[in-house]
Amino acid sequence: MKKLHTPVTRRRFIQAASAGGALAVLHPYSVFAKSNQAHLRIMETTDLHVHVYPYDYYGDKPADNVGLARTASIIKGIREEASNSMLIDNGDFLQGNPMGDYIAYEKGMSAGDIHPVIAAMNTLGFDATTLGNHEFNYGLEFLDAALAGANFPVVCANIANGKLAATATADAPLPNVKPYVILDRTVLDGDGTEHTVKVGLIGFVPQQILNWDRRWLEGNVETRDIVNAAQSWVPQMKEEGADVIIALSHSGIDSSSRTEGMENASLHLAAVEGIDGLLCGHHHLVFPGAKYADLPGIDADKGTLFDKPAVMAGFWGSHMGLMDLLLEKSGDEWKVVSFETEARPISERVERKNVALVESQQDVLDSVKADHDATLAYVRRAVGKTAAPLHSYFSLVADDPSVQIVSQAQTWYISDMMKGTQWEGLPVLSAAAPFKAGGRGGPDYYTDVPVGDVAIKNVSDLYLYPNTVRAVAISGAGVKEWLERSAGIFNQVKPGLADQPLINPAFPSYNFDVIDGVTYRIDLTQPSKYGPKGESENPDANRIVDLEFDGKPIDPEQKFVIATNNYRAGGGGNFPGINADATIFVGPDTNRDVIVRYIVDQGTINPKADSNWSFAPVEGASVIFDTGPAGKKHVSDVTAVNIEPAGEGDEGFARYRISLGG
Ligand code: MN
Ligand code: MG
Repeated sequence: MKKLHTPVTRRRFIQAASAGGALAVLHPYSVFAKSNQAHLRIMETTDLHVHVYPYDYYGDKPADNVGLARTASIIKGIREEASNSMLIDNGDFLQGNPMGDYIAYEKGMSAGDIHPVIAAMNTLGFDATTLGNHEFNYGLEFLDAALAGANFPVVCANIANGKLAATATADAPLPNVKPYVILDRTVLDGDGTEHTVKVGLIGFVPQQILNWDRRWLEGNVETRDIVNAAQSWVPQMKEEGADVIIALSHSGIDSSSRTEGMENASLHLAAVEGIDGLLCGHHHLVFPGAKYADLPGIDADKGTLFDKPAVMAGFWGSHMGLMDLLLEKSGDEWKVVSFETEARPISERVERKNVALVESQQDVLDSVKADHDATLAYVRRAVGKTAAPLHSYFSLVADDPSVQIVSQAQTWYISDMMKGTQWEGLPVLSAAAPFKAGGRGGPDYYTDVPVGDVAIKNVSDLYLYPNTVRAVAISGAGVKEWLERSAGIFNQVKPGLADQPLINPAFPSYNFDVIDGVTYRIDLTQPSKYGPKGESENPDANRIVDLEFDGKPIDPEQKFVIATNNYRAGGGGNFPGINADATIFVGPDTNRDVIVRYIVDQGTINPKADSNWSFAPVEGASVIFDTGPAGKKHVSDVTAVNIEPAGEGDEGFARYRISLGG
């Protein structure tokens, strides 16, 4: 398929759009379509996760890299560039930011209520959406109530309401959901003649929803393999007269060979005969885009999966996905004769800042204003209470409440996720590191939430990064190596010497994982077993001593499940043996969401540190440790070490002396 001419650049389009649409540039397909040809433009949003306002509710501040109100400005320009266009969402719209939680946990969905993200989508005139895995997070009743407000069809073809039937085409659909729709769209051909094109839209969701939302779904719905379901349904759509079939695949792009129940099945879905193009999602990445370069079956520049056009529009409204199809009529049939795909961003990174490329569209903001304002109030008021102060001032020298709460929430979540899997019954440990622990961030860069009310906006202070939850399965010996790698944050300490600097400032605190669920001591007289990049440096050194599980020395052979995040489980920090091979669970939820759910579930949390780790005594030695001056009010709580003030440190830090003598 040859290109008609060089595509107009993104920037020219954006300029056209931001000039109020006065300078709309028609896409070449619209300009050059012949009498029997028509340009059909399909726009995709995906993984919006309730982001309508360009706002970070956790940080309680504006954000230029998110929000359907921003993406909407691109939509407006795009509609002016093409003679015929459709706007489709690809799922994961209902959950994923505090506005979603506010509606689900606080306001609820009463009869007649329109969910704010649905209200925004109605305002923009979406043609359809599919269901993402997160649509099930708040249960089926909530989903049903939200979908009832949509002015557009919702398609998902691989889920059955109740038990699976003998064949996919006999499965009962969920309420307010259809397996597919065939929409009649009037298109203008190159001569300006009207034609009706039947556009088939079919949706797919990862089967893993049954694990991730077991508590809502078990016994209520069943799912089918994405590719199998497509093979059953697509011929029926063809029989019904679909001219063009677009798959709304809420599934990522994975080039590994096909397996039944594969979570990221978009590539193999592309091979299904009759599917003309794919809208992808779930991965929160951009396609076409460099993240998918050099993979078999995938053209990451052109935007194809097995030579069929595909697009993935980032997440949270970060991009608008575009699929331009040039359709040609021969006899009674329309077929795709040329295509282009593209993902247009709403912002760009300039000097480590997000700079907006478009402005918000006012009517979209207006459609959710009341719920946005209520969400602001929600993130600022208490959703739970903490019985212990949550601070990180001493998180590098003693077990610490700000790390403890993260591990409590992770353990709670992963224990639940292991139910019904082959890992059920294995002990669940949790690894968590202090993210805000001074260092280069300066003397105010600490987590500090007082006893009493905990608000949602505090959770971003507890968990700085938008990581997602994962779990690995490793042996007791592996647990020790993990801790050896963490313990590299400390300088080696000599017996009999006073005021030795404790912390190696080049070691980032986010790589100082504390593992909760075991007890251990750190022998600072030993050199670090691992170097700063995780390389083996002193293979015979053993800083981790007295490592016990359940009050007994850990069995090096015993298997453990360890809750962690995507960074660590993906090999971040190069922890020995911790990588994709050790990963047994890739969670769909952010660690922050898990902490919010945990706090809402528990009402009052009591993250008092359990002192499961400490320093082994070093005869006649003391170390110095710098922390934020505001930590002074908490120093008396730090009973696991013998700590005393030692004046001022550098650059506004407060200095403490820790006596390690036995
Ligand atoms: Mn998502
Ligand atoms: Mg602990």
